[in-house]
Amino acid sequence: MSARAAQCPNCGAEILFSGGSSLVTVCKQCRAAVARKGVALENIGIVAELVPTSSPFRVGMASRGSRAVKPFRIVGRLQLSTGEGTWDEWHIAFGDGGFAWLAEAQGGFWVMLPLAPPRVPEWEGLEAGRPLPLGAYGNFTISEVRQATYVSAEGDLPFVAPPGSAFRYADVSGADGSLGTLDYGDDPGLDGFFVGRKVELAELGIEGLTAWKERKAGAKAQALNCPSCGGALQIRDPAATVRIACTYCGSLLGSRDKGAEGPPSKFDVLEKLSAVPFRPTLPLGSEGTLDGRPYAVLGALLKKTSSGGTDYFWVEYLLKETKSEAYHWLAESNGHWTLLAPVAAGAVTDGVRFAVYDDRRYRVFGRNLAVVEAVLGEFYWEVRKGETTQAADYIAPPRMLSKEQAKSEVNWTEGRYLPKADLEAGLRLKEPLPVPTGVGACQPWPHEGTARLWWRSAFLLSGLAILVFLFVLIRDPRKVVFDKTFDLVDSKQTVYAERGTMPPKVDWQAQSSSKSIADRAAAEAAAAAGRVLLSEPFETGRSTNLEATIWAPTQNTWIGVGTDLISETTGEARSFYLLSDRYSGVDGGESWSEGSQSRSVFVSQVPPGKYVLRLEPEADAGKAPTSFRVRLRSGVPRIWKLVVTLFLLLLGPAWLGFSKMAFEGRRWSESDFTSAGTVREDGDDSGSDSGGDE
Ligand SMILES: [Zn+2]
Ligand SMILES: [Zn+2]
Repeated sequence: MSARAAQCPNCGAEILFSGGSSLVTVCKQCRAAVARKGVALENIGIVAELVPTSSPFRVGMASRGSRAVKPFRIVGRLQLSTGEGTWDEWHIAFGDGGFAWLAEAQGGFWVMLPLAPPRVPEWEGLEAGRPLPLGAYGNFTISEVRQATYVSAEGDLPFVAPPGSAFRYADVSGADGSLGTLDYGDDPGLDGFFVGRKVELAELGIEGLTAWKERKAGAKAQALNCPSCGGALQIRDPAATVRIACTYCGSLLGSRDKGAEGPPSKFDVLEKLSAVPFRPTLPLGSEGTLDGRPYAVLGALLKKTSSGGTDYFWVEYLLKETKSEAYHWLAESNGHWTLLAPVAAGAVTDGVRFAVYDDRRYRVFGRNLAVVEAVLGEFYWEVRKGETTQAADYIAPPRMLSKEQAKSEVNWTEGRYLPKADLEAGLRLKEPLPVPTGVGACQPWPHEGTARLWWRSAFLLSGLAILVFLFVLIRDPRKVVFDKTFDLVDSKQTVYAERGTMPPKVDWQAQSSSKSIADRAAAEAAAAAGRVLLSEPFETGRSTNLEATIWAPTQNTWIGVGTDLISETTGEARSFYLLSDRYSGVDGGESWSEGSQSRSVFVSQVPPGKYVLRLEPEADAGKAPTSFRVRLRSGVPRIWKLVVTLFLLLLGPAWLGFSKMAFEGRRWSESDFTSAGTVREDGDDSGSDSGGDE
C-alpha cells in the first residue's frame, strides 16, 4: 500500500492518500475533495456534511479476511442520495492495490469488484425488469435504473468526480444471484462495471461491528410517544425505520427535515389522522418463528386493485427476519396467508403464461395494478399512500412467485402458503385468525398426502388383483368335467335312478347348499314317473368354480332343468336351474327373436371329489325339445369379479380426483387467467364464495 501524505491545496492541512486506488481524498479540515493528477494536487469541490446513517461500518475499519473476501481496509465512504433516501458505499482497499465497493442493499451486504466494462446500451435505453445480455459475463436482468447525487464523502475515493455531480446507474441481477452495477456517472457512456455477491456481516471479518440485535437493543430507548396522539410506540427496527404510521391514531410520522435522510432522530407528524385507517388481523410488533426463522412484524399495507368495476383488497405485512436482517413479506387475502422472501430478479425467467425460478415452473395467476390504500406500523422506506406498482402472481401450489414492477425497479419475492394454524402457533397469537374463505391462490389441495397414499395403494392392490386372477387362470386351466346330451325321446338313453342308490329329490328353487338324505320313497316315485335323470359319476379337479351350460334345440318353446350337483362322498348338494328358451317370429313385417338356446350359470367353490348330477327337466306338455345337453367346466375365469374389484379399488382415487378438480376449479375461479395461462374470456366472474370446506 502506497500511503502518501500531502498538503491540502485548499487549507494547507495534512491529507493522506492511503492506497493505490485512492484518486481523491477528502480533507478532514475543510471537506475539500482533493484529486491527485500526477504529482499535482487539485481541489475539485467541497463535499456536504455527512448525513448520519445506520451503516455498521466506519472509515478505518480493517478486515482480517475470510473465505468470502481477502483482507481489506475501509479507506473511504461515498454518500449518495436519490432525494428519497441516502445511503453509503464503502471504498475498500486490498493489500495488492486493488479495490472494491462494500454496499448495503436489499437487507444484505455486497462486495462489488470492478470488472472490464461490457458493451451496453446507453442509460436512457435501460428499463427495469428487462433482460440484459452482458457478453462473456452472461445474461442479467435489469433490477433497478436510477439517478442519484454524489452528496458527500469521507476519506479516499477511487474515482475523480466533483461533489454534487449526478450518478446514473443500473443494477443488474444474475441468474446465480450475483448483483452487478453499471456506473454511467453523468455521461451517456459506461464509466465502470462492478459485480458482487452477497455476504453475511459476520463473513466480512471486520472486528468491532455491532450486530443488528445489539444495535436494536441499544436503540430500544427509541420507544417514542406519538407526537399526534401521545400513544407509546415501540420501534422494532430503529436502525432502518424512516416512516411510522401510528398504530393508535394512524398519523404518518417521519422527518420533515429534507437534509437529514435515513432514520431520523426525531419523528414529526407528516399527516395527521384521528383514527387508524384499517385494523390488521396480525398484531403489529408480534415476534415469533415462522418456517424455522425468527421474525418481527413491522408494518402493514392495505392494498387495492380494481377489476371490472369491483375493488379487491388484501394486506401485505412487512416482516424483518431478525437473523439475516432481511425484509420478508406476509400476504393476507380472504384469510389465506403466504410468506414471501425476496429473490434475485436475474434468477427468474419471466414468461407470459409462466415464470421459472429455481427449476420450478409457476403459472400466471393474476396481473394487476396494486395501489397502497393505507399504511400502519413502521417502514424502512418513505412509504406513501397511493403508491402504485404493477403486480403479477405466479403459482405452483403451495409455492408462489410474485413480481412488483415500479417505474425504476423490479422486485421478485418467492414463498409458500402458510396454514393459519402455523401462523397462530408461530407468532403465539392469543386470538385465532379468521377462517379463510374460498381457495387461496397457492393453497395446496388438503388431501394431497392422503391422495398419494390412496393412489399408491389402489395401484398396488389392482396389480395384486390382476396377478391373483392370472395365477388362478394358470393354476386351474379350463377343463370340461362333464358333458352329456340327454335324449328326451329315446327313454332308454336316460339314466334312471337305481333302486337303493337313488339320491334324494332336491327342491332346486330353495338355494340351500346342504341337504340331508331325505324322502327316498318320494324320489323313487319321481324317478318312476320318468321326471328325474341321474348322471354317471364324474370327478372335478381342484377346489374351483364350475360353469354349467345348457343347450337345447328350443324353437318357440322352453325347457328348464332343476339341477342338483351332489357330492358322492358327503351327500351335500348344490342346486341351480338351467334354462333354454328361444322364441322368434315375424310381427308387422319385422322379424324378432328373444331368449337363448344356451345359457350358463356358475357354481362357486366346489370342493374336489366325485359328483353326480340329478336333473329334473320340465317343459310345457307336448312341447318339450327332443334333447338337451349339459356341460360342466372347471377353471372358467370370471372376469367380472376382477372388473368389480378394480372398480371398487379405483372408486376412492376417482373420488379424490374429482375432489381435486373441484378444488382447482374454485382456485382458478378467483383468477383472471385459466389454469392454462390464457386470459379468462367470461371476464365477469361473480366469485360466489361458497365456503364449503373440502
Ligand atoms: Zn483542507
Ligand atoms: Zn398516534
